[in-house]
Amino acid sequence: MASPRNVTIIGSGPAGLTAALYAARANLQPLVIEGLEAGGQLMLTTLVENFPGHRDGIMGPDLMHEMRAQAEKFGAEIVQNHVTHVDLCVTPFVVKTTDAEYTTKTLIIATGASARLLGLPSERALMGHGVSTCATCDGYFFRGQDIAVVGGGDSAMEEATFLTRFASKVTVVHRRDTLRASKIMQDKARSNPKIEWRLNHEVVEIRDSGSGEVSSMVLRDVKSSATSEVPVAGVFVAIGHTPNTALFKHQMELDANGYIITHDGAKTSVPGVFACGDVQDHVYRQAVTAAGTGCMAALDAEHYLDGIPEHLQS
Ligand code: NAP
Repeated sequence: MASPRNVTIIGSGPAGLTAALYAARANLQPLVIEGLEAGGQLMLTTLVENFPGHRDGIMGPDLMHEMRAQAEKFGAEIVQNHVTHVDLCVTPFVVKTTDAEYTTKTLIIATGASARLLGLPSERALMGHGVSTCATCDGYFFRGQDIAVVGGGDSAMEEATFLTRFASKVTVVHRRDTLRASKIMQDKARSNPKIEWRLNHEVVEIRDSGSGEVSSMVLRDVKSSATSEVPVAGVFVAIGHTPNTALFKHQMELDANGYIITHDGAKTSVPGVFACGDVQDHVYRQAVTAAGTGCMAALDAEHYLDGIPEHLQS
């Protein structure tokens, strides 16, 4: 069996790739398992204007391409594979993918978070057929059509505003009369004449009128319980994210929402296992904070390895 890796990183968003860059520059030859959604959430965005150093902004996929190339330049090994099992009860730790098994002295978890869904059977049935969780991926398909965005946070405002580039009308459906989004994002959306508002409403069903493609949504007024059918060609669900921690459940401390609990930097409840990015951050969730915690995770892993007894280091 191959000797254990010094550092294995699961995930390849800004957190994972920054951890890879720092670990590679520390001469630790990190392995990055980039997963099925390589590059993470920024691959699904357009212009990123708040990553320092890019005065005119940079496209999300371009930023991730640069981060990946930079990590590789310093010796990070990046493989595309799906991690199916992790054993943190043994040392070195074991990481299994669909077609390989690795052992590693330290593990950096950078698996991010995934889009939350409403949980309607019709939402799942019509996913990819008018239901989407990614405006930047799918907005183009709705040119000249009426569509809806569900949610009242920054993501919903951002998606609704972005989608007005393509759609003739975007209806924002939110379950309360107050938006959670920041004032600047709200103001931008509210001043957009192509956006209509259905506050205090919930989507209770998405219909396809037998065509296999979304044709309408059924809304329920949360105050009166009255329902109404609104014709739309697309429903974009933008109601937040869930951390990708199923692999680590019962193996380390998670909070009530499933996020990994970190302390003293990027340390988790398991010595030698570190976490960075959105998988442990439900507050800031920015590319730059993910990158910052990626750096912390790599430095913490380096310090941990420095303290490992000699006989366990090869
Ligand atoms: P969020 O802030 O958690 O907002 C989720 C929204 O979806 C809330 O309005 C929530 O309603 C609604 N929601 C949740 N579950 C629902 C359900 N089952 N049915 C109907 N509605 C539901 O998530 P987010 O908008 O994705 O933002 C996440 C973080 O990223 C935030 O910190 C945000 O500031 C940040 N962000 C920043 C930018 C930017 O600055 N460019 C862009 C996107 C996101 P309630 O309000 O009633 O709870």
